[in-house]
Amino acid sequence: MELRISKKPTLYRTKYLLPIIKEPVENGAIIATEGLIIDSGPYKQVKKGFIGEEVDLGASLLIPALVNAHTHLELAAFKWRLSPTSSFVSWIKKLIRLRQEITPEDYVKSARLSLKEMWQVGIGLIGDHGNTGLSVPLLRESPFRAVFFREVIDFQGRTNLKDFLKDHLKDSKIIFSLAPHAPYTVSPLLMQAIKRWTKKYRLPFSLHVAESVEEIEFLLYGKGPIRELLKERGQWPSSFVAPGLRPVFYLDRLGVLDENTICVHLTQASTEELALLTRRKAKPCLCPRSNIFLGVGFPRVEEMLALGLEPCLGTDSLASNDYLSIFAEIAALKQHFPHLSPHILLKMATLWGAKALKQKDMGYIDKGARADLLILSAKEGNLEQILETLVTNPPQKIGRLYG
Ligand SMILES: [Zn+2]
Repeated sequence: MELRISKKPTLYRTKYLLPIIKEPVENGAIIATEGLIIDSGPYKQVKKGFIGEEVDLGASLLIPALVNAHTHLELAAFKWRLSPTSSFVSWIKKLIRLRQEITPEDYVKSARLSLKEMWQVGIGLIGDHGNTGLSVPLLRESPFRAVFFREVIDFQGRTNLKDFLKDHLKDSKIIFSLAPHAPYTVSPLLMQAIKRWTKKYRLPFSLHVAESVEEIEFLLYGKGPIRELLKERGQWPSSFVAPGLRPVFYLDRLGVLDENTICVHLTQASTEELALLTRRKAKPCLCPRSNIFLGVGFPRVEEMLALGLEPCLGTDSLASNDYLSIFAEIAALKQHFPHLSPHILLKMATLWGAKALKQKDMGYIDKGARADLLILSAKEGNLEQILETLVTNPPQKIGRLYG
């Protein structure tokens, strides 16, 4: 079911409403017009004084559309072309090799298909990362809200950022930002320059951090397969001296950690590193299915939550995942951490993703929020049972209510 919100204020009644920022409501309703929620709460309260059209959604659960805070649409053509591995660097090498073999048409076709898939699985906001910008026109014509991160890879630090910034800030549909790929693929000075630029325009700053043991080895000792890879790629600066620090401490020394920094993966982050991220108010972004695919370990979600961090979720790309579904990421987390409540998992998938991408009107249901909602079946069981099922088995049918 797909319902477009009309220009005239309309009331939508539902069996359960999950506002995320407030307690769930049984027999709830929202009033929406032109893509915006203008009222929400218990049906009786919302109905009072309202004289417009009313739509009864029946035995449904309404939740905000999900946020995929980290993906790479331009790698969608890699679906099924790479196998699960336990060697992170050999996976990167295969990826680099395969990139040459895919045609420009294939890249675009696959990215377009992925956008369709993300719509079907209930995503409303995307944090997309790319080195070419091929997904930008596709995102622009799509129904999604999107932040596009132009990803920088340059360990020699020769990139002129001005080349990436032409006209992009004038884009009205897509929020454009910059993202250094990782601490081991971007030079320290360039990393700081990117941070300075994103800070100037109050934009989110996103990078892969503490993803593999190879990354830790490289930053601590300047050795291992990452050093070899950089040499092979002609990216090895002869003057490089390893910082001798774990990734989060290294990034902190560069001054790039703050509330606008999204740290993707963190599978190898130590307790001390997670504590530092908490002090800096940085935002973890977890991609558990990609972590399983690459055999890089699993994020310590319970520890992050206990420290007060607000992790959001991403699928990463189809080079390390087979499905761009945030419900599938939720189910993977639930399987590893059965004690995580559906409320926390859904908060990670909605509100905390929107906060990380700095989209204040998304990820929750309330007056003033964007009307981008999912209509899910609530035919069987009470609310707690319905939510438990939802986070354990990705739903087959996802209806949408949007403006
Ligand atoms: Zn990624």
